[in-house]
Amino acid sequence: MKAIIVGGGLAGSSAAFLLRESGWQVKIIESTDQIGGRAYTVAKQGYLIDTAASAMATSYTSYFEMAEKAGVSDRIVPASPWVGFVRDFKVHEMDMRRIQWSGVWTRLLSFRGKLGLLKLFKDAFLARSKGMLNYNDLGKAAPIDVESASTYALREFSKEINDYFCDPVVRVMLLADGDKVSKVEFFSGVANVLDETMCSMRGGQQSFAQLLAKDAEVVLNSKVTLVKENENQVAVSWGGIDGPVTEIADVCVVASHLHTAVDICPDYSDVLTPLNRRMRYTRALSVAIGATVKVPTKSFMVFVPACEEKNIATLFLEHNKCEDRAPVGHSLLTAYFEEAASEACWHMSDEELIEHTLTYLYKLFPVLRGNIDMTHVKRWDTALPLMEIGGYGEVALLNERLKTGSRIQFAGDYRSGAGQNTAVDFGMKAARNIIETYEAQLSSCE
Ligand SMILES: Cc1cc2nc3c(=O)[nH]c(=O)nc-3n(C[C@H](O)[C@H](O)[C@H](O)COP(=O)(O)OP(=O)(O)OC[C@H]3O[C@@H](n4cnc5c(N)ncnc54)[C@H](O)[C@@H]3O)c2cc1C
Repeated sequence: MKAIIVGGGLAGSSAAFLLRESGWQVKIIESTDQIGGRAYTVAKQGYLIDTAASAMATSYTSYFEMAEKAGVSDRIVPASPWVGFVRDFKVHEMDMRRIQWSGVWTRLLSFRGKLGLLKLFKDAFLARSKGMLNYNDLGKAAPIDVESASTYALREFSKEINDYFCDPVVRVMLLADGDKVSKVEFFSGVANVLDETMCSMRGGQQSFAQLLAKDAEVVLNSKVTLVKENENQVAVSWGGIDGPVTEIADVCVVASHLHTAVDICPDYSDVLTPLNRRMRYTRALSVAIGATVKVPTKSFMVFVPACEEKNIATLFLEHNKCEDRAPVGHSLLTAYFEEAASEACWHMSDEELIEHTLTYLYKLFPVLRGNIDMTHVKRWDTALPLMEIGGYGEVALLNERLKTGSRIQFAGDYRSGAGQNTAVDFGMKAARNIIETYEAQLSSCE
């Protein structure tokens, strides 16, 4: 039996892998020239730059499960357990293995600020103990999705906690300031990321999607325009270098962005549109800087508060993530711009973006001056799904309404908290729904 997958990101590749493993004939239709989607790694001058998806935590259980199934678990390597928070151009480092202890000793916050953190951790862990912060089903957090992260932090704690802890955490999670991001994301960041350690995929984050898709038939540079269910089949139409094509399959997994799914699946418009109205994809700019010296910090993730640097939301010190990201003795730093800053700076030339990034980096790490040997700019027009406050109720409704037995299945990071784990998780779910529903028919074909 035949399955067509729309989109070769992590969601589509995960679905493709499981379906092939169960004996399905699988074809992936991808609009760009490569498999990976927003897991996109660029090799340049000895550096391996993850230009979008970069950080992953040990709480990425579905990602780990998929890697195990694909026999590539040994490619997942631990990253530095240290994270840094910037205050007054100093990086205050904390050990994620003992985050509470690090919180007690850090000079990032005043004594009063640290006391506030205790209540914050209590609130987040209470929500987690009630099952609301399940990484694969943040729709369950709808009851606490009533205010922004900053509204919560400023009401319950202080400006200091908002500025130097809450805001930087959500800026890392969604590359957006705390006043635009739900408290749910903040709690999820505290309970699902800061309470874990980080890791990465050797060979670059994109390599995972490529490994998963390697045995499927892949059609690149082809944009799907229509997915239509007929009685016992699905017709999928796309345009590519050879002109328009329509192909019939038994099932289809639509693993594109949500707004694309709305456009190409008119029969599902009623189900998909309510969430699409409450969610938008942000833009993001990432600027990678390679240097011939090591910067003096052990951290991989560096949280940058808006009150210190408005434009750059976070810095990843990639050489502290995995040794294959930079030549020996070198540093690779990637700056991700905040969403409104990305919008405002979109028109700037690469040179201007690099100059802006370097001006900040030189203040933070003076050792970089005169030692830059590589730069790379990437623009993401459709970066991260950003939910309106209260939008997680709509995520829950969408997940409820999409039927597990349908010939058309939907997968993508908009179905829970944005990130690689959600993409893989819903790709796996889509494949499993199909495998379960059509098991009998598949055996009769064999
Ligand atoms: C700047 C940035 C930083 C990020 N940082 C992190 C991070 O540190 N950690 C983390 O876990 N996540 C991060 N993410 C999020 C992560 O990259 C995504 O959540 C994940 O890769 C989404 O996978 P997906 O398969 O759902 O979607 P995608 O990867 O977007 O895949 C969808 C695919 O469908 C294709 N497509 C779309 N329309 C069509 C069509 N009509 N026909 C055919 N193909 C189509 C697209 O080209 C794409 O390849 C980041 C994202 C960005 C942009």
